[in-house]
Amino acid sequence: MSKLRFKALETLPFKDFRKDNAVEIPQKLSALFCQNVFSEDTMREYLTSEAFNFIMDTTKKGAKIPRHIADQVASAMKDWAMSKGATHYTHWFQPLTGSTAEKHDSFFTPIGSGRAIEKFSGSMLIQQEPDASSFPNGGIRNTFEARGYTAWDPSSPAFIMGTTLCIPSIFISYTGETLDYKTPLLRAINAVDEAATEVCKAYFDKNVTKVTPTLGWEQEYFLVDSALYQSRPDLVITGKTLLGHSPAKGQQLDDHYFGSIPTRVMNFMKELEIECMKLGIPCTTRHNEVAPNQFELAPMFEEANVAVDHNSLLMDVMARVAHKHHFHILFHEKPFAGVNGSGKHNNWSLSTDTGENLLSPGKNPKKNLQFLSFFINTLKAVNEYADLLRASIASASNDYRLGANEAPPAIISAFIGSQLYSVLDELEKVTDGKLSPEEKTELKLNVVGKIPEILLDNTDRNRTSPFAFTGNKFEIRAVGSSANCGAPMIVMNSIVAKQLRTFKTEVDLLIEHKNLKKDEAIFNILREYIKDCKKIIFEGDGYSDSWAKEAEKRGLNNFKTTPEALKAELNEKNASLYEELGIYTQREFEARNEIKLGKYSTVVDIEAGVLADIARNHIIPAALNYQNRLIENAKGLKEIFGDQEFKVLAAEQLNLITQISENISVIKRTVDLLLAEKKTAKSITNRQKQAEAYCNRVKPLFDTIRHASDSLEMMVDDELWPMTKYRELLFTR
Ligand code: ADP
Ligand code: MG
Repeated sequence: MSKLRFKALETLPFKDFRKDNAVEIPQKLSALFCQNVFSEDTMREYLTSEAFNFIMDTTKKGAKIPRHIADQVASAMKDWAMSKGATHYTHWFQPLTGSTAEKHDSFFTPIGSGRAIEKFSGSMLIQQEPDASSFPNGGIRNTFEARGYTAWDPSSPAFIMGTTLCIPSIFISYTGETLDYKTPLLRAINAVDEAATEVCKAYFDKNVTKVTPTLGWEQEYFLVDSALYQSRPDLVITGKTLLGHSPAKGQQLDDHYFGSIPTRVMNFMKELEIECMKLGIPCTTRHNEVAPNQFELAPMFEEANVAVDHNSLLMDVMARVAHKHHFHILFHEKPFAGVNGSGKHNNWSLSTDTGENLLSPGKNPKKNLQFLSFFINTLKAVNEYADLLRASIASASNDYRLGANEAPPAIISAFIGSQLYSVLDELEKVTDGKLSPEEKTELKLNVVGKIPEILLDNTDRNRTSPFAFTGNKFEIRAVGSSANCGAPMIVMNSIVAKQLRTFKTEVDLLIEHKNLKKDEAIFNILREYIKDCKKIIFEGDGYSDSWAKEAEKRGLNNFKTTPEALKAELNEKNASLYEELGIYTQREFEARNEIKLGKYSTVVDIEAGVLADIARNHIIPAALNYQNRLIENAKGLKEIFGDQEFKVLAAEQLNLITQISENISVIKRTVDLLLAEKKTAKSITNRQKQAEAYCNRVKPLFDTIRHASDSLEMMVDDELWPMTKYRELLFTR
């Protein structure tokens, strides 16, 4: 083991390697854009106009694709893909494991008499049957029917990776239950489209026929040298370091943030950018993040379904490109203790087919009323379903980051900025029922009319809020860096869809039964919503202890762990929201909850196993080894100097010998306890109880072991220490 650490270090630095891997960005990056995508333009070129128009229509309205059209599209896709060197195709989907999955099939088809052709038919395009028995399904499928199928999603364009044509797909069981992120996401997108379009049409703009949720994610990640990564079994198996003393030079100096990007990283980024361009992922910004070796990449926002696909795709591509530059990429939320973790902000908004952002204040009072309606309804939705949003970002790895004074707390609150806050204050004063002409004028001119068209630069950025309004979009800031954005996006779009439906019903009721004008009715309803959701609006420091206390007074939940968050998710109200919108059946909702609990337990179980192994087989032996040296040294001193003098001369050695023994015995005892608790937890059959046992009985022991091991790291001779150190992992360029 210790050999591995030093062998890995010897491979550094890669002077020649860096030169060999220099990447030049073509001057016109734009020429590469969508080169490997079956984009609208490519389709126009390869498809008949009948098929082209049909596909364009389907992406908008979601109609069923007839067989002869599917055949035409398949054949065109194959021709295009083969012209790019592709030999295989796969349905590319996002199962609940959190990564992407694919099963490659060849275009090659033997046709008898020793002949063969390249074939890709409509039915092959539309449906594929992966052997799906090993994907998580929460007990939905019995083993005898352990098959699922994937089906083409024409609203996300096909693309080529290597020599494979990848077809974005949904993944469902034979009995029709959803087993992926995409299926419910498409349903949620549909639901919010319908609800928002209704609201637009009825009150603000008759010309709107479609509303699309948009998503702009910001991906944070760490890069570590591949050889050093390989030398750490905890990183390899769990994606995070379970042990390791913080380096003397941490991020205290903040010199990394926006600092210059090291050459090797720059080469990686350039190549990544080229790959992204070819795949149609519109990456625009790259920079260093707060922690050493931490970086961020953000694209232009896109339609939510495509944006979610692009994020999953990007994570795959990043891992591969990193490998070429002798890096390993870490998407874990907290790979290093004492160093900032990684998140993935999800910027969300709604945009109309008339080209408007519904969360952007407009040029006149009418447009501003539209903005306020969508803005306040979103806040109200988050207020009503805060627990769902919290659960959507819950995972074992994100638990290490949330609330750690670098990421938002687990309390769901919203930051809206002082300007909008005062607008809401004014709106809250609106009189009940009919408004006098003076009141109307006052509202139009001095309240609604006063919202500046461009709030963008005026909303001071509160970095501590999990849900911040940033001028023309909401930013969900608690999403973990390793997460599939599909999870929070399903929730956001569902809860806003539900809320907009309610809004429409309530406003219409006032118009019909109280004989109010449209605007009056809207003001009346918004006033009530503001009263309801003020409790989640918080403009202060979300990291402070005083906020946790204040939030408790306001009755807001603060679920610090995944098991708590998942327990709260599973209630009647949430289940009926999903049933009403046709997103999940009760059974699917429960199955997904169970999958997440199962995943949580598995992750903690693996971490416990790895930690026990490293502590017993690497840390204790190294410590004993060094202690023996000290003992030899002390013995020698005693021999030379005799009893009296020896006590003074060997004081430090004796002290160290004792401290080492103490730490070893702490590790030994705690590891024994850890393994016993792990065994007990593993045997619990109730998923919720099991996850709680892992959370409350297994996980807390990690800290005790780590603390003792990190103390030993400070005592033991560097040459004997088996684990690659933080300073090596984090400051290698
Ligand atoms: P930060 O300060 O958090 O880094 P930026 O302002 O740099 O945030 O990033 C803004 C992000 O918001 C970008 O990723 C961008 O794509 C996204 N974004 C901008 N407008 C929209 C919108 N209308 N809908 C969704 N995302 C958007
Ligand atoms: Mg951001």
